[in-house]
Amino acid sequence: MSASQEKSDHAKVTLRDVSVNYVTTEGVTRALEDVNLEIEDGVFAALVGPSGCGKSTLLSLVAGLVSPTSGSVTLDGKEITGPTRQIGYMLQEDYLFPWRDILSNVTIGLEVQGRLNVQTRQRARNLLDEYGLGEFMHHRPHQLSGGMRQRAALIRTLATDPEVLLLDEPLSALDYQTRLTLQQEMADILRQEKKTVLLVTHNIHEAVSMSDRVMVMSRRPGTIKSSYDIPTEHRDDPGKDQSAYVARIWDDLDHSMLRGDGN
Ligand code: ADP
Ligand code: MG
Repeated sequence: MSASQEKSDHAKVTLRDVSVNYVTTEGVTRALEDVNLEIEDGVFAALVGPSGCGKSTLLSLVAGLVSPTSGSVTLDGKEITGPTRQIGYMLQEDYLFPWRDILSNVTIGLEVQGRLNVQTRQRARNLLDEYGLGEFMHHRPHQLSGGMRQRAALIRTLATDPEVLLLDEPLSALDYQTRLTLQQEMADILRQEKKTVLLVTHNIHEAVSMSDRVMVMSRRPGTIKSSYDIPTEHRDDPGKDQSAYVARIWDDLDHSMLRGDGN
């Protein structure tokens, strides 16, 4: 790498001309085509798009779980070649182990990485305290509400201190009211922890109210069709009318959905 590249102010996560084909016995599925995006350090970005358009595939690329068929995926300008602890991945289901208490669920990632020690356990406790789960540390998951469990799952992802968090529809299993509350809580926590975030959601309101930037994907093979920067004042003030953004994004999406892929 040349000196000029080393000090270049590349984005935290960059996808350049990325395409992904899945090859199965039934044939080849082109999941993504010519995807270009940049997410700068500390930016909260959301990805919306019709189901099957490749959103999860895009997250898996950044997680290092899927390799691009062509193009490049980089973290701090360096090619992502496999899973790295700089990147945390959180899924829709909370996957907390029922027989472990909340603290030992939250420290699982650290255990798996062989990094559980007095300091990292204390950090996990501090995160639980800070984000309202301190008194539930020794409760089992079933003793917590769905919203609290999902908050615990987020704290588990944060406990390994990743720089980038990938969230794949993390709130879609929750009821409407819990979901609204948790949208705000999760966005606040992730901003406070100064994380770079890539959130996948079906819910346009959720994308607009949580994110600095919303990217809209076309139907499969997915590509980034449009991108909107959401001004902070729109995000932080529920009284501000977010509906103009929601409407524009809906229009972008609707076109793809009318030709829909049927799932
Ligand atoms: P989304 O998350 O937007 O719903 P996905 O990324 O899961 O979309 O899937 C994109 C397309 O790729 C879909 O047509 C899906 O069936 C296909 N696909 C996803 N994962 C695989 C896989 N491991 N093998 C084959 N096809 C896959
Ligand atoms: Mg998906």
